[in-house]
Parts: sequence; C-alpha cells; structure tokens
Amino acid sequence: MPLETTSLFLYHETMVSTFKRGLKLSTRKHATEGKPVETAPVPGQVVIPVNQHFGAPNKSLVQVGDRVKRGQKIADAAGPGPMTVPVHASITGIVKKIEPRPQSNNTSGPCIIIEAEPGDHDDDNEYLPVLDPFTCTREEALARIREAGITGMGGAGFPSHIKLSPPQGKTIDIIIADGAECEPYLTTDEAVMTEKPHLLVRGLSIVMKITGVKKAIIGMEDNKARLIPMIEREIRLNKDAAGENPGDISIGLCKTLYPQGGEKMLITALTGREVPSGGLPMDAGCIVQNAGTLVAIAEAFTLGKPLIDRDLTVSGGACKTPKNIRVPIGTILTDLPKEFMDLDMAKLRKIIFGGPMMGTAVSTLNIPIQKNTSGVILMTMEETLADEEGPCIRCGRCIRNCSCRLSPVLMNMALEAGDLDEAVRTGLLDCIECGSCAYMCPARIKLTQRFRVGKQRLRARQAAAQQAAAQQAKAKV
Ligand code: SF4
Ligand code: SF4
Repeated sequence: MPLETTSLFLYHETMVSTFKRGLKLSTRKHATEGKPVETAPVPGQVVIPVNQHFGAPNKSLVQVGDRVKRGQKIADAAGPGPMTVPVHASITGIVKKIEPRPQSNNTSGPCIIIEAEPGDHDDDNEYLPVLDPFTCTREEALARIREAGITGMGGAGFPSHIKLSPPQGKTIDIIIADGAECEPYLTTDEAVMTEKPHLLVRGLSIVMKITGVKKAIIGMEDNKARLIPMIEREIRLNKDAAGENPGDISIGLCKTLYPQGGEKMLITALTGREVPSGGLPMDAGCIVQNAGTLVAIAEAFTLGKPLIDRDLTVSGGACKTPKNIRVPIGTILTDLPKEFMDLDMAKLRKIIFGGPMMGTAVSTLNIPIQKNTSGVILMTMEETLADEEGPCIRCGRCIRNCSCRLSPVLMNMALEAGDLDEAVRTGLLDCIECGSCAYMCPARIKLTQRFRVGKQRLRARQAAAQQAAAQQAKAKV
C-alpha cells in the first residue's frame, strides 16, 4: 500500500511488528513527553573530552591560552587509521586548561576546558562550507561526515563514516533509522523527530545516496504513532538535486517493548531478518543509524555544522525542571542557571548518564555532556532498585527474559570463575548489554555490569596477545 494512502489506523491494525521476548516496562516518559527542546543558556565553560568515539585516540590541536571559535576543530587523530573522529569547540572562548577529568564512562580522560567569551557567537563560527550531498562524490560525502565529527549518538559512539563504509563483500539493501527510543524516561529522539522531521528524512536520503541503498525504514515504537503524518509529509516532499524523490522511505511501527531500539531487535521487527550470532547488522544486510545521528548528518551538509550541540532529556524525581534540552557539548549540568535547570540535591540518590537500563551510573554530576549522552536521569530513592546483591537462586528468570536468547546466569558463573572462554562460549559477545536480565533478577545480581567488565577484560586480553605477537615478530627480524 503506498504511504500516501496508508492511514494511522491501518498502521496500528496491520503493521505493528516486534521481536520475541522483551519487557513491558513502565516508560516513565510523562514528565518530558511532548515537550519541545529548550536551548540552554551558554554555560561559563565547557569541558570537552578529547576522545568521544569508539576507536583510536585523538590528540589536542590547541594549547592553553588559544582563542577558539565555535565549530573549530580542536582535537583529531593521534596516529594513522580510519577509526578516529575529530572533536570541535562547542563555544567561542579561551582554552583555559587541558587536563584529565572524569567522564561518563567512569574513567578519567583528557579534556579541553574552554572559558566562554561573552556574546552570541552563532554567526561568528568556524563551520565547514555547505556541501550538496547529492552532487558530491561518495568519498567527499564520507570525508564530510568524518570532518564534522559525527559518531553514533544513541550508543557507544561508533564513527558514522565507518558504519557507512561496509567492507567489500557485504551487501546492504536496507537502511534503518532508529527512532524507537525504548529506554524509560528518554524523549529526546521523539522531540528531535517532532521538530526536525525534514532533517531526519534528509539525513536518511544522504545515507542512502552514500551507500547506494534504495530502501529505508524509519522505525518507531507505537507510542510515537502521532508523529507519522508529519514524517510522511516530509517523505513526500523530499527531493534530490534533480528534483526526484531519492528512494523508497517508509515508516515501520513496532510494539512499545524493551529493548525494541536495540539494533538486532529493530532489524528483526522491521525486516524479519536475524543478525547471526557474533555478527553485525551488516550481516543481515542492514545499516542502522540513530534518528539524532541522521539529523546531525543532514546538518553537516546543509549548514556545514559539526557535531557541537547535543539534545538530551534531563529527568527523574530529583530534577525539579524535567525537560528536553539542547546544550553545547562539554556542558556540565550544574553550570546551567537554576532558573533553567533546577535539581533537588537532597532527594538525589542515583545519577545515570543515558537511560536507566543501558546507561552508566556515575558518582558525580561534575561530568560533561558528550556526543552520545542521550539523557541524564536523576533518581530518588523511590525510583531506584535495591543495590544489595544476594546469591543466585537458579530461578531462570534472566534466561527467560534475555532479548538475545542467551543464558546470563551461565555467562555470569563463567566470569565469576575467571573463565573468559566459557563466558564467550555461552554468549558474552552476543550480549547487547540491555539490562533486562539484571532488571528481572530477584537476587539483584549486577549481571549487565559484569558482562560489560567481562568484555573489557576480553578486549584487554586480545590487545595483549596482539602486542605479544608483534613483539615476537619484531624479535625474529
Ligand atoms: S544477557 Fe545481555 S542481552 Fe541478555 S538480557 Fe542480559 S544484558 Fe540483555
Ligand atoms: S535471574 Fe538471577 S537469581 Fe535467577 S537464575 Fe538468573 S542470576 Fe540467578
């Protein structure tokens, strides 16, 4: 049925899809749902992490005392290799310090601290030149996405230009825009899709042009069905340089079920395909891009704007002014004026960067917002689960509720025994860290946290093995 003639009612009745298993969570989105994105006043300083991507490290390109302009590149690759993404100044001002600061992944990393210069610098910036994505070459388009510092905004910060360059032999035939936003509390993607549907569709068209893929699906949970008419309209209006509609873009509604926004779940729900064990979305012929990332890609071409602002949800019972906000990257929430962001420190029990299921609990608010910060949730005692761990009672609830059909209890036993190989054999690398098992565990065992640490140990072991092999090879020469 053509999109133009598909009614909202029919979407509800015939096209709502999903994946097997999953949790019906209380969405707790009411405090910010339907609220516009409010632009925060420019803070007095920003603390910009030099490394905000998954990949090789960056180095600072500026020194203490330098004046930098909003949009200026201030950090880039420390060495050769494609897995790097530059970082840009999000405000105009003076570099005051370059030093390690705590970050949202609970590590300390090098940060560039910029003190704001008074005044509005939105027109006095150092953006990139505007570039037509439909007439430039594929290489120019990928270089633009890298130069604009774009990484996945919904997850680990994977470089977008790498995601859009699948290796030879991998055939991609569907692009998926991930607008599911299945985490409780978070409403940023919904707000962005409401306010910038034209950029969502434009970003999708750019990605289709780069990859040569003719079909795209915008995936949303059915609690966002009200957005369908405005996105459909943008799909109809979307034209390339030749005035043609640049491909087949449709909307796929999915059940509101956690973790519907996980790449593997969304692919299954929208296409019926399964990502094979140990595989990636490209192994199922798909590339998945977060809705916010697609908007950032569109802005990198149409405005030449690097990724320097972040839209996020600030919510939870210890936030007196829950809202969707836009801040310069590097903003520390407590640097915002109280009239704009009022926190109830007496009630604050737990701080989460990201959503409560997949995000990271941090011990301080003195942590900057970075490219992949989708939300900051400030929870009260009533909103948090008890922290005290008990012994496993072998109830099997973690197995029954794992969205990836793994055996969390066995993975945990292997990790407790220090047996990384057994943990991998029982599914560690297929775990998407969705948090469902830990949420359902009556013994409150921190299963997901253990799996995260287990993967870090595995990566460290692999790196050590590679280093040893390289040293051995060197010694033989
Ligand atoms: S084992 Fe991993 S994928 Fe399965 S429920 Fe737990 S966190 Fe989610
Ligand atoms: S849900 Fe918790 S208590 Fe039950 S089997 Fe899994 S780890 Fe053990």
